[in-house]
Amino acid sequence: MIESPVFVAGHGGMVGSAVCRRLASIPGIEVITRTRKELDLCEESQVNEFFSKNRPSTVIFASAKVGGIHANKTFPVEFLSDNLRQELATIHASYRNGVRRFLFLGSTCIYPRMAAQPIKEQELLSSPLEQTNEAYALAKIAGLKLCQYFRQQYGVMYHSAMPTNLYGPGDNYHPDHSHVLPGLIRRFHEAKIRGDETVTMWGTGTPLREFLHVDDLAEAILHLCQLDNPPDWVNVGTSVDVSILDLAHLVAKTVGFTGKILTDPTKPDGTPRKLTDTTLIRSTGWAPKIVLERGIVSTYECFLKEQGAGDLRSK
Ligand code: GDP
Repeated sequence: MIESPVFVAGHGGMVGSAVCRRLASIPGIEVITRTRKELDLCEESQVNEFFSKNRPSTVIFASAKVGGIHANKTFPVEFLSDNLRQELATIHASYRNGVRRFLFLGSTCIYPRMAAQPIKEQELLSSPLEQTNEAYALAKIAGLKLCQYFRQQYGVMYHSAMPTNLYGPGDNYHPDHSHVLPGLIRRFHEAKIRGDETVTMWGTGTPLREFLHVDDLAEAILHLCQLDNPPDWVNVGTSVDVSILDLAHLVAKTVGFTGKILTDPTKPDGTPRKLTDTTLIRSTGWAPKIVLERGIVSTYECFLKEQGAGDLRSK
């Protein structure tokens, strides 16, 4: 049973909104959300006041400053400090105000660049991080460890989930700052509309990435929140990866772009491979359900709907 009320931090983002959709289907759960205007999670005093007034029992921490490879490389100060401030304020306020279950969300970029593949949870802190997203990864490692230390030192049920690359409804389609899947959906769609003969993707196309639909992640989050003895942190993924070039072909086919796909080796590739070992979460009874081909089709439908309604996220 998920203990109500549940505060979903970051409900406007792709992960938070998927969690809210899933929670809405469970009778009797009160969900608390706040926009950034109503509550700035970086501001400790605002966060403390919010928690003492609203007293959530469960917190799902899906708020973060996130972005693709280019944004991460360009704004390391904001990626490290905004994320650290939000985590510190929210985790401490949760403890002070009797939150019983805290689920912290990070990303598999917390693992070293050259981690043995598929990546097991024990790879954490075993060697240096990937440079292009080091700042974000350091903030997420700090949050994961803070939850682990609270659990160890004060006996509270604070734990973490580390999802692989995510996609789905409500993604960010900013032309430069988005992740690869939404970036390609937009680029191929616009090229098709303009009748372009070529589309250029970033990097060499050889890196391998794994993609998880955000609705599968929402299921995993709710599942983990109901375990009596969850792992301190656990990978959430499919354990299936695809090269960026193959992904580009898949997106082109889905969108209906029939021109040529070119690579641009002057743009960074990032880590060569990032495949998660999902043995641990599978052993607790969760498995992903949405295969990539089908997930891209439904995500492209959402893209068209969001664009048609004028609320495509692009910042
Ligand atoms: P990463 O998984 O942290 O490296 O983040 P991204 O999702 O931003 O990038 C994944 C891979 O896709 C990298 O090798 C990028 O160079 C490549 N890529 C190819 N085209 C694009 C694009 O249009 N946008 C982004 N963000 N990445 C792209």
